[in-house]
Amino acid sequence: MLALARLTAAVLVVASVTGLAADAPPDRAFATARTVMGEHPEIWVGASIARGKYAVVVTGHAASTPPSLSTPPSLSTPGARAGAGLADVADSARRTVARVWGQADAVILVPATDEQAEVLASPSGVAGLAALADVDHVIVAPSGFGRLSPTGRRVVLAHELTHVATGAALSGDMPAWLVEGFADYVGYHGSGLTARAVAAELAAEVRSGTPPVALPGREAFRPGGPRLPQAYEEAWLACRYLADRYGEHALVALYRAARRHGITTALVETLGTDLAELTAAWRGYLRRELA
Ligand SMILES: [Zn+2]
Repeated sequence: MLALARLTAAVLVVASVTGLAADAPPDRAFATARTVMGEHPEIWVGASIARGKYAVVVTGHAASTPPSLSTPPSLSTPGARAGAGLADVADSARRTVARVWGQADAVILVPATDEQAEVLASPSGVAGLAALADVDHVIVAPSGFGRLSPTGRRVVLAHELTHVATGAALSGDMPAWLVEGFADYVGYHGSGLTARAVAAELAAEVRSGTPPVALPGREAFRPGGPRLPQAYEEAWLACRYLADRYGEHALVALYRAARRHGITTALVETLGTDLAELTAAWRGYLRRELA
């Protein structure tokens, strides 16, 4: 009962923060936010909920500044201000996801501490991460996310929202290079960042004559791995290559087909190629883009 009362108190913040009464009624994203908050109500005591055009951002309160449940929350609370700013970023990221992939819900949870992020993300860890995607929402790791530039935040949110939109958490048999590469493809979409800027670590390897020989497997994306940045860069450039060579619609079609039939069949049916041919073409692309 206490938990429910607390959740209600947290949800009530919405009305005062974003003036929902005068706005459209909450949609599916808002319903999702309420549901996921209900899974750990203790983390969301006194939380602020900011609503963008598409995104719903739930921002937790630090325990050191306990909110008063009897005092109406206001727009001036740090959580509300941060949430409103992040809702704009999430809206922008969500628009990019929708442009490339299609329908995307944007529910962003911003707990007050990394420990809380760890609880929300369990059994996955958040060490070294800025954010990660669950089935229907994104969890922000406060210290990692806090270190990002404004562009970095938008890229990360678009990346994670792509995972949500494509159901990445539910499709464990997809090749990691395609899942992570596609999320980064959407993440960097329209960022104006060059391949050499984004893939600095990989560019150094290519220039020193030790380019990768194969697309990165799932192992390469383990947090703390020795070539983790390079794995993301390799995956991103594989998807960027596919979009450059065959068109963005073909990359999206490949992703959808791979979810249904597996990557081997999808490559043949969608692009008329196979993994060996793709790998060779991708290695040439790395040399052209990074050397
Ligand atoms: Zn990812």
